[in-house]
Amino acid sequence: MNKIGIVGAGTMGNGIAQVFGQLGTDVVLVDVDEGALSKAMAIIEKNVRRVAKKKEKDEDAAAAAVLGKITTTTNLGDIAGCDLGIEAASEDMGIKTTVLKAMDEALGADAILATNTSSISITVLGALTSRPEKVIGMHFMNPVPVMKLVEVIRGELTADETVSTVMAACEELGKVPLEANDYPGFVANRILMPMINEAAFCLMEGVATRESIDGVMKLGCAHPMGPLQLADLIGNDVCLAIMEVLHRDLGDSKYRPCPLLKRMVAAGLLGRKSGRGFYEY
Ligand code: NAD
Repeated sequence: MNKIGIVGAGTMGNGIAQVFGQLGTDVVLVDVDEGALSKAMAIIEKNVRRVAKKKEKDEDAAAAAVLGKITTTTNLGDIAGCDLGIEAASEDMGIKTTVLKAMDEALGADAILATNTSSISITVLGALTSRPEKVIGMHFMNPVPVMKLVEVIRGELTADETVSTVMAACEELGKVPLEANDYPGFVANRILMPMINEAAFCLMEGVATRESIDGVMKLGCAHPMGPLQLADLIGNDVCLAIMEVLHRDLGDSKYRPCPLLKRMVAAGLLGRKSGRGFYEY
């Protein structure tokens, strides 16, 4: 990949831009919100400097090298000429519909169009475009620069060549791509989100305090982070959106979103990105 376009510069978009920038790939990072773009560049710079400092490397040179590879824009048309487009906008079908159609129009006919969706059907998203054989799920994990896994999901019409190109691109990034089929939530969120949702139920029902719920899972189940801490890292709005997809598309009441999670999202308690979620930041 010589040049990639990323649409959505939030938690995931900025991480994806960082790892491609570190590899030396030219990145066009798009968002509707100027503020999100400047915040993304500040986060990338902070991350790159922290790692350089730890490795006793020149921080200024490391930051300049990565940031120099990333161009930010609010004009989605600027992804024209990219070999790969990655959609990393909000987990909302309406937004994804608008963004994927616009990306399909802007990208050249040979370009691959990947989505970082956590739960929405790749087949449904592919059908919105003129290139379903080149549409694929490229589900990076948060935080992107740290986590090794990329879940790679093929839609009904995704071509084998698209899958092999994307698997190779992930490996070049130093990631481990694992394939999953197109079911709601794929593998990671089919298993993870019901656990986070259940942790929210435990808090709502007074089974234990937030610290105890997280402590039990860390000390008792060897999780590196408690489920409520993890929800705050992911974003409670993202967690709720995924639970709603699981509930609707699998049609099983066991996936009903926890009312506390719904109330928190309605109140803007989204986690780290808003300064308050299950914890305060
Ligand atoms: P986020 O809320 O942090 O960022 C979303 C960004 O999309 C925002 O900056 C917003 O301004 C931008 N956006 C909204 N509409 C847009 C449009 N029309 N054009 C361009 N940009 C637009 O969300 P996130 O956590 O980065 O999630 C992005 C995607 O990645 C979602 O599909 C989510 O499910 C998935 N994902 C999230 C995580 C996680 O841990 N947060 C992990 C894996 C995958």
